[in-house]
Amino acid sequence: SARLSLDRILQSQGFGSRKYCRQLIADGEVSVDGTVVNDYRASFDTAGLVFSIFDEEWTYREHIYIALNKPANFECSRKPSHHPGVLTLLPEQFSWRDVQPVGRLDHDTTGLLLLSDDGAFIHAQSSPRRHVPKLYVATTHDPVTPELVAQLLGGVQLHDEPAPLAAVTCNMLDAHRLQIVLEQGKYHQVKRMLAAAGNHCSALCRTAIGGLTLDALGLAEGEWCYLAQAQLDLLT
Ligand code: URA
Repeated sequence: SARLSLDRILQSQGFGSRKYCRQLIADGEVSVDGTVVNDYRASFDTAGLVFSIFDEEWTYREHIYIALNKPANFECSRKPSHHPGVLTLLPEQFSWRDVQPVGRLDHDTTGLLLLSDDGAFIHAQSSPRRHVPKLYVATTHDPVTPELVAQLLGGVQLHDEPAPLAAVTCNMLDAHRLQIVLEQGKYHQVKRMLAAAGNHCSALCRTAIGGLTLDALGLAEGEWCYLAQAQLDLLT
C-alpha cells in the first residue's frame, strides 16, 4: 500500500483529471472519516481507505475486477457502432479508469462477462494457452438431436480453422436448448459450431467461466458486482 495525496487518490479511482479532482476537493465534495477534506495535498494510506464523494461511499481499489450479467443489444467493442457499449451499464468512473471487457461476447449474447482495468489480468485471462472452460446455454432454431450432440462432441470443421473444434461437454437441456462447454474462445465459436453441425443458434448465454457461475453471483441482467479474490481464484 502507499500514501497518496487526495487529488491523486481521486484521479486514480477515475473521478477525472487532476485539475478536476482538486476542484472537487476545494468544493468540499470529499470527506474522509466523516470530515470534509478541503486540502488536496492531504495524504492518506490507500490500504482499505474509504472516502465519501458526492455523499456516496467509495472504497479505494488499486484495480477493479467485476462480473456483469450482460444483456442483449450491448457491444463489448471499445468503439461500439450499432448498440451502446457495455461500459454504459457501469459507473462512469470505470471508463475513466480504462476498465475493459476481458474477451468479448457478441452483441446479442447474454450472460457472464468479466471486466477489469488490470492489464496483466486481462492478458493472462485472454491467453490462447489458457484453457479455462466456458459454459454456454445455446437455444437452437431446429430441435436438438443426439446426432447434433455427437457432432459437437466429435468436433466440427470451421472454415478458417486448421483442425476441427470440439465441445468439452455437450448436454441437451430440452428440445431446443443445449449446454455446451468450450475451452477455446474463437470468434462466434458457438454459433459457427452449431451452423457447421447443420443447426442455427438463435440465442446464446454464457453461464460460467471456470468455476465462477452466473447463478452463484445472483446477478439479474444488466447487474454487476465486484469480484473478491476467492471468486477470481475460481477462474482457472
Ligand atoms: N460463441 C459465440 O458464438 N458468441 C459468443 O458471444 C460467445 C461464444
